[in-house]
Amino acid sequence: MMLGFLLARAGVEVLVLEKHADFFRDFRGDTLHPSSLEVIHELGLLEDFLRLPHTELREARGMIGEETLTLADFSRLPVRCKFIAMIPQWDFLNFLAGHGKRYPGFHLRMQAEVTDLIREGECFAGVRAMTPSGELEVRAQLVVGADGRHSTVRERAGFEVLEFGAPIDVLWFRIAKSAGDPQQVLGYFRPGKTIRMLVMLDRGDYWQAGAVIPKGSGEQIRAQGLAAFRADIARIAPFARASLEGLGDWDEVKLLTVKVDRLREWHGPGLLCIGDAAHAMSPVGGIGINIALQDAVAAANLRAEKLRTGSVSEDDLRAVQRRRGRAVRMTQAVQIFVQNRVFRSGADRGSGTAPLPVRLIRAFPFLRRLVARFIGMGFQPEHVRTRELAAEYHGVTPSRPAR
Ligand SMILES: Cc1cc2nc3c(=O)[nH]c(=O)nc-3n(C[C@H](O)[C@H](O)[C@H](O)COP(=O)(O)OP(=O)(O)OC[C@H]3O[C@@H](n4cnc5c(N)ncnc54)[C@H](O)[C@@H]3O)c2cc1C
Repeated sequence: MMLGFLLARAGVEVLVLEKHADFFRDFRGDTLHPSSLEVIHELGLLEDFLRLPHTELREARGMIGEETLTLADFSRLPVRCKFIAMIPQWDFLNFLAGHGKRYPGFHLRMQAEVTDLIREGECFAGVRAMTPSGELEVRAQLVVGADGRHSTVRERAGFEVLEFGAPIDVLWFRIAKSAGDPQQVLGYFRPGKTIRMLVMLDRGDYWQAGAVIPKGSGEQIRAQGLAAFRADIARIAPFARASLEGLGDWDEVKLLTVKVDRLREWHGPGLLCIGDAAHAMSPVGGIGINIALQDAVAAANLRAEKLRTGSVSEDDLRAVQRRRGRAVRMTQAVQIFVQNRVFRSGADRGSGTAPLPVRLIRAFPFLRRLVARFIGMGFQPEHVRTRELAAEYHGVTPSRPAR
């Protein structure tokens, strides 16, 4: 959506295909980080954006046993918004789609599920999609796979995937809010046999909770029954004990499998993958949305003008991977280090020892600023370099329009 918005703003004809009828998925993650808010500012949309209902997280705090610890302090980041905006992703996507409509080249088609790629000789020349009214064929100068970590586009392209594994999965469910619940604590950590970390995202009238569990243990937890699950969650977050009684059915608890991978090559002739389709991110740090947005900004910066004038070579697409690849590799390396340390440490075995990264932050408080930099800005924050084309120039030299 972000790439579609940026390209249409720069005068390129774009069609965004989304398989669902709306963006209302409750397991999308809810964070927009300072570097992404800076991008929104650069697009002139910040004031409008901040009018959307959201909460501002100026510190990321964790509860380690009985101790509340600041894990990241965003107050010194060199950006306008020194906070994480907690906003359901569907609100943000609707916001972008709404603003995209200002540009004549921006088209969004919902309920259009890409099922295959169209090839012409060696080149990718478009996609086939299923819609309620039948199959749709779209031909385009460039196909961008931004269809997430179960990407159909990358699978149909036959791109090689490098898998890095992950020791965790997440059980995702809602907890009703009560007066007196703590504010702005992101993660609760307590040693235990199965569940030892709980992430809680403030969604206004309820908490979106994510219980981090050892990989593959979802079935075993279900087999122990809902009462045992509720008790385990209450052990980590005692304030939620009464509200947890509202969790009455396993249907309300979704298992999200975590994986970390990336494509060896993000591109082919006429095809580029970005976001999770190019590199599935771990939930560690809650940074995947922001990395995906930065990919979109970089891709637009590097290729918008060429797309507008109708000539993009594979070398041009390679440049996008060159620009973003290092930041993604470094980010995934940190995520893998943290998830392995946190979930295979002494705390894993119920020893009561806080994991190494937490002990380090406790001992060296200046590390909070480094963590804030990593979470809030990433290794390579991108800035909008594309121009907003004045309305009269839109469509003057369009790229091959979608059919
Ligand atoms: C449990 C968990 C929690 C997370 N929490 C956070 C968080 O709080 N903050 C954060 O920054 N990151 C978080 N992440 C990571 C984050 O969700 C991803 O990195 C990010 O959403 C990637 O964005 P994307 O646009 O590449 O893909 P997605 O957000 O997955 O978007 C892909 C889109 O493509 C659509 N689509 C899929 N297939 C097709 C098709 N065939 N045709 C048409 N449309 C299709 C999907 O419906 C979807 O709208 C979390 C990840 C996990 C697993």
